[in-house]
Amino acid sequence: MAKATAPIRKNDELTVEIIDLSYEGLGVAKVDNYPIFVTDALPGEKCLIHITKAQSRYAYAKVIERLNDAPERVTFDDEALLKTGTLPLVHLSYDAQLDFKRQQVVHNLHREHLDELVDVKPTLGMAEPWQYRNKAQVPIGGKTGELYTGFYRRRSHDIIPLTDYRIQSKTIDDTLQKVIAVLNKYEISAYDERTHRGLIRHVIVREGYHTEEQMVILVVNAKQLPHEAEIIKDLKTALPQLTSLVLNQNTKRTNVILGRNERILFGNPYYTDKLCGLTFRISPQSFYQVNSAQTEVLYDQVLKNVGLTGNETVIDAYCGIGTITLALAKHAKHVYGVEIVEQAIDMAKENATLNQIENVTFTADRAEDCMPRWVDEGIDPDVVVVDPPRKGLAQPFIDSVLDVKPDKLIYVSCNPSTLARDLRQFVDGGYQIESVQPIDMFPQTNHVESVTVLTR
Ligand code: SAH
Repeated sequence: MAKATAPIRKNDELTVEIIDLSYEGLGVAKVDNYPIFVTDALPGEKCLIHITKAQSRYAYAKVIERLNDAPERVTFDDEALLKTGTLPLVHLSYDAQLDFKRQQVVHNLHREHLDELVDVKPTLGMAEPWQYRNKAQVPIGGKTGELYTGFYRRRSHDIIPLTDYRIQSKTIDDTLQKVIAVLNKYEISAYDERTHRGLIRHVIVREGYHTEEQMVILVVNAKQLPHEAEIIKDLKTALPQLTSLVLNQNTKRTNVILGRNERILFGNPYYTDKLCGLTFRISPQSFYQVNSAQTEVLYDQVLKNVGLTGNETVIDAYCGIGTITLALAKHAKHVYGVEIVEQAIDMAKENATLNQIENVTFTADRAEDCMPRWVDEGIDPDVVVVDPPRKGLAQPFIDSVLDVKPDKLIYVSCNPSTLARDLRQFVDGGYQIESVQPIDMFPQTNHVESVTVLTR
């Protein structure tokens, strides 16, 4: 095959018509079939664009002048946030965002010829699609004594200072500012990725949606925090909702935010929240859904479709701290949960006890290693629920599901591409897709979550 050459070059300027929206939320224009991905541009808009990066197969561009507005365009005037690219759909009306997410699911199912088998439902959205996050995880920048929090500039590692993040709870934004004020008072330095010097890397705030309890995690490039006692005292005074203060030690040159070692500086090694009428303890390293209001909608879809009578054996794979597991246990004979993060499984066991639920078994393992073992041990599930990370299910996991043939399979997915790939195998293995329900867990962003119900 001849090597493709780009019909345009970096810094070219041209007028194009946007014909599509990429899964990342970028406008797509084409020159002789060569795609150009344009920031802040919507289908139907004509724009004068500047090419910022040109590769052999595609290019990136920004808009110099927009010649018309798409009907779905809405104004968002926070320049700083726009530079970060953390809200790639913010210029699209919310109804159009919900439609875009449904289309993403349809489009991916189409690739596997599965769209003919099921009618994807309209996305369940939020009434107020702002300030929904119960967790903030922000890098720290600035000179000593003048630190700030923010997000990275689009495709860069420069930090753009922010105080109002729009999608996090107000009380979290407020806590971030108070934490920064205390760090500035004690002249704590910001970590610099380039030189691997400086102390504070990230501040993480996690908040119980129903309890309002806050956990603050200070991620530092050291084993110790200078002025530790004073900082603890000041944070306790400044933050009445603080129930857990954690020092996480991350001294590696890495993009991974949390280090392995941590020490509780104050309070509990967890914070608490309520979900589906149950109480959950959440530890610093444990996954917990970030949009609590929509998590109830999501779990409701699982519970509504699972059809339990009290006699069933259920497997909840990728169970985190056991949220879905325990919600299911109330309606099943026994539920088995598996999760790779050991700390999350410790929490899941603690949460079972806390909620006086005894018909559950939790295992810390890789789902793809555990599932075949369970099958060998004779565990014969009626229902399997999965909620894997973006990369989807691993082959040995799928193989053992097809081996034991549960009557029902519920697939909670945060990535329609791997969802479609995995569904193809289940359909070929004798399953039928009953329904696909997208749910908007991350308004203003391009993330697409969905619940698929399969039966034999
Ligand atoms: N169902 C839970 C968690 C979903 S997030 C909830 O709704 O809260 C996905 C979870 O899968 C995370 O907790 C992650 O730690 C876990 N995980 C990732 N890879 C895994 C693997 N190979 N085996 C088991 N769990 C895994």
